[in-house]
Amino acid sequence: MMMTSALGPASRAAALSRVDGRIIDLLVVGAGATGSGTALDAAARGLEVLVIDKGDLAGGTSSRSSQLVHGGLRYLQHGDIGLVRESLRERELLLTRLAPHLVRPLPFLLPLRRPVIDRAYLGAGLTLYDVLARSQALPRHRYLGRRSALARFPDLTPSVVGALEFYDAKMDDARLGVAIARTAAQHGAHVAPHVALVRDLGVGMDGARRVVVRDELSGEEHTVATRSIALCTGVWTPQAAAVFTGADEQVDVVQSKGVHLRLPRSAIDGHTALIVPTERSVLFVIPERDHWLIGTTDTEWLEPPDEVRPEEDDVDFLLGELAGILARPVAREEVTWTYAGLRPLAPSSVEGDTAKLTREHRIVRVAPGVLSIVGGKWTTYRVMASDLVDELLREGGHALTPCGTAHLPLVATHDEEVAALIAEDPGLGEPLVGAPSFRRADVVQACLHEGAATLDDVVLRRLRLPLHIDVVTDDTLADVDAVRSWALVDR
Ligand SMILES: Cc1cc2nc3c(=O)[nH]c(=O)nc-3n(C[C@H](O)[C@H](O)[C@H](O)COP(=O)(O)OP(=O)(O)OC[C@H]3O[C@@H](n4cnc5c(N)ncnc54)[C@H](O)[C@@H]3O)c2cc1C
Repeated sequence: MMMTSALGPASRAAALSRVDGRIIDLLVVGAGATGSGTALDAAARGLEVLVIDKGDLAGGTSSRSSQLVHGGLRYLQHGDIGLVRESLRERELLLTRLAPHLVRPLPFLLPLRRPVIDRAYLGAGLTLYDVLARSQALPRHRYLGRRSALARFPDLTPSVVGALEFYDAKMDDARLGVAIARTAAQHGAHVAPHVALVRDLGVGMDGARRVVVRDELSGEEHTVATRSIALCTGVWTPQAAAVFTGADEQVDVVQSKGVHLRLPRSAIDGHTALIVPTERSVLFVIPERDHWLIGTTDTEWLEPPDEVRPEEDDVDFLLGELAGILARPVAREEVTWTYAGLRPLAPSSVEGDTAKLTREHRIVRVAPGVLSIVGGKWTTYRVMASDLVDELLREGGHALTPCGTAHLPLVATHDEEVAALIAEDPGLGEPLVGAPSFRRADVVQACLHEGAATLDDVVLRRLRLPLHIDVVTDDTLADVDAVRSWALVDR
């Protein structure tokens, strides 16, 4: 049965009260791409699911990515053909069936420095990429001479001899994450952001495991009884697993830090994205209507995950790489925002260089009925979810029902909901102070339909103000906060 997909204070309270005193099939811990994808997969197979997150929906790594739905050209270099093929299949599904409203084609230039060798070597890689993709949605790659390349990207360094043009896809990661969680709710999953897993109470005579979860907004604790638990906790998996094992070491995750910086659209003259392999990672230069997103770095992070932050070295590195490919350098003062995220990588035999670690996912049995999943990519969230739910069913001794998410389009009601709010209350059509491309209704919609609770939820992940406007002033924040309080408390 289809339920409402609206996520707000009422659905959050209902999610916790509905599971009270009953045994559910599955508790998913973590509502990033992997956790929300797992909740959707399990709910669509008819399981009763509660998905919780200690913070916002997609508030962890899933809102700090390069925002690409891609096969990962550089994984070809590492010989990860299977991963690239799988990612390209997911790219096609998202572009054509699951989320064409949230994922769009993005043309890239791969600049060439050496006339013959680069064109032959990189061209062969892109031919393989095209063959593996067999895409109906995106054109195949092609060679552009120097003049055409510079016409597409006037600020490209004049030392290039040409470029290869190919297509991948772009999303808004936070928005896609919310859409997956909403689609899970539509299929009956109970969705409760700002609720943390805190304690294991063990398995009772009835065969159910009981855990204590804490509502991070009210401080109240609740007991959840469940047949199985999926830890989709990304870089926090060692701590989440320790709730069951008592030992931090059992599930190992390598934390690979990636930093992005944001430039105003006027900082660079170019009409397409660039991709440039670097020593330590891959440089992406991605245009949006109102800004450029420049990423990324790839270095191991050894401090606690909640403390991840961009450092001076990261920004220097990105600006240095950018200077190597542009005709004129970008000044540090032009950078309006930076952010950092942690890739939750499965450890492998390769040590010391996180850029070379596999992006494949790994499922680990933490305790009876408790499985964790780490590794993978945003692009492959659906495959990760499907593998995990298969494994949970096997672990519980249940018959395997097939995964149906390849045929379930994600919720696409955002614009209708904003329009309905304005129709009901025309004052909500007014622009936000200092952010004229956003209306008050956008804030209300975020709180009543998209699960936003705190000011950060609205500013950083629903409206994404630091990405979309050059300067976010205190007046803008105060205005957003006033509308948020009105929507959540006074309305
Ligand atoms: C810089 C960077 C760039 C990237 N670019 C791309 C890209 O362009 N394309 C791509 O496909 N992939 C990309 N990735 C990879 C991708 O972003 C990640 O693989 C993916 O987002 C991981 O999702 P996740 O759900 O596993 O983890 P997360 O999104 O981190 O979710 C884990 C969640 O668990 C919650 N949690 C933790 N502990 C608890 C607890 N005790 N109780 C309740 N909740 C808890 C956290 O709050 C968090 O929300 C990039 C990653 C980085 C860092």
